[in-house]
Amino acid sequence: MFESSPLPTAVAPALSAAAGALDSIALGSYATLTQAGQIAACEALARLESRVKAHQLAAAHAADASEAAATVGATSTGAMLANTFGGDPAAGNRLVKQAMKLESVSATQQALARGEVSLAQAELIADKLTALPGGPTEAQRDGCENQLLDDAPRMTLKDLSRRADRISDTFAPDKVDAHENDILIAREAKAWANSYWWIADRRDGTYKGEFIIPEAQGEMLKNVLQAINAPQIKMAAGKAVDDPALAVLDDKPTYGQQMASAFCTLIEHLPGDKLPQTAGVGTTVTVNIDLDSLIDGLKAGTVSTGCRISAGEARRMACEQGLLPMVFNGGPLPLDCGRKERCFTTAQRRAMGKRDGGCTFPGCDRPPSWCVGHHARKRWAEGGTTDLVDGVLICAHHHRIVHVQHWDIVFAEDGHPDYIPPATVDPRRRPLRNARFRPHTAAA
Ligand SMILES: [Zn+2]
Ligand SMILES: [Zn+2]
Repeated sequence: MFESSPLPTAVAPALSAAAGALDSIALGSYATLTQAGQIAACEALARLESRVKAHQLAAAHAADASEAAATVGATSTGAMLANTFGGDPAAGNRLVKQAMKLESVSATQQALARGEVSLAQAELIADKLTALPGGPTEAQRDGCENQLLDDAPRMTLKDLSRRADRISDTFAPDKVDAHENDILIAREAKAWANSYWWIADRRDGTYKGEFIIPEAQGEMLKNVLQAINAPQIKMAAGKAVDDPALAVLDDKPTYGQQMASAFCTLIEHLPGDKLPQTAGVGTTVTVNIDLDSLIDGLKAGTVSTGCRISAGEARRMACEQGLLPMVFNGGPLPLDCGRKERCFTTAQRRAMGKRDGGCTFPGCDRPPSWCVGHHARKRWAEGGTTDLVDGVLICAHHHRIVHVQHWDIVFAEDGHPDYIPPATVDPRRRPLRNARFRPHTAAA
């Protein structure tokens, strides 16, 4: 750190007046505003931030151009900026880059200084203008810049980016489709080139991974996970806390935990038998379990990949439609590959959907499409039939809870299932029921 010189008179009065103006507002006073007032204050401050940013970038650019860093012995403008305030050279370098970028788009720079666009919008416009297709003239380029500045306030950043990909409609309307197509081809090629994926066994019962995939596939994945997850989020928001079952419904999972759970649900529902079978590598995953464990035992099961799973988890997986249970009786050969005998047919699942209307766990509102048929009675494990009255629809999240925590399910006289929580959840084991409205069935 070095001693900074006093502010020169050309800027000192204005900058200290600006600082003084902010000082006159106590931080606590925002809490006393009306909600509309708080929203308006947030917007005004964001615009003020843009104004300050424009000046900060202009000053940084000027200091960079005059090589001011050398006069104080700093190795670069970024390092010099870090020394004056903040101590973060990476932030300093970023500021210099942003300043360079904005120097090429003067109208955008001015709009930032007037608080009309955010820095992110200004950067996006600068980036898009440097990559304009079709070799536009200076005037055409200015036209594009003004159009994007007009569009910016009405659009999200993502929409502004998509708009910018078609900005050549301002000077070459007959070529705009071709231009956009060229941009997309280049972007997709870059996305595939930059894509990567890894997954590693952490040897503590978890896997860790990371990936970069193209935007389209990323959005597909995110949509699917959010769809699997959505009702869960809704329940978590409106739950009654004193209800023991609802307390189980969410131990306040984080967003990350919810999405990870949705990802696992997706994996378990991949149609292994419909995926390409490469030489020697089967994509159909089986769950190997002893008959005793399938009924009630404690002996661990094995996934065909070799992974050992608890008896409860094995029972749950054996219950799922997409996973093939192989039931053993102590010997090396399976008694049967119990899909036909032990799994509900599509027609049975449909009938259960009519009866149950979705997940039957108390308090859950997941629709039938995200439920599996859970065997509520144990005789299915012994190879018995899977009668309609043996099964209930249940979502993946509650399926796990029911198997791991040992909830019992009994059918009441009206044919609907009651859930009996384990003593660990409710010492009195009072039955709970999903209160979903069912218009076509007799009342309890
Ligand atoms: Zn089950
Ligand atoms: Zn559920």
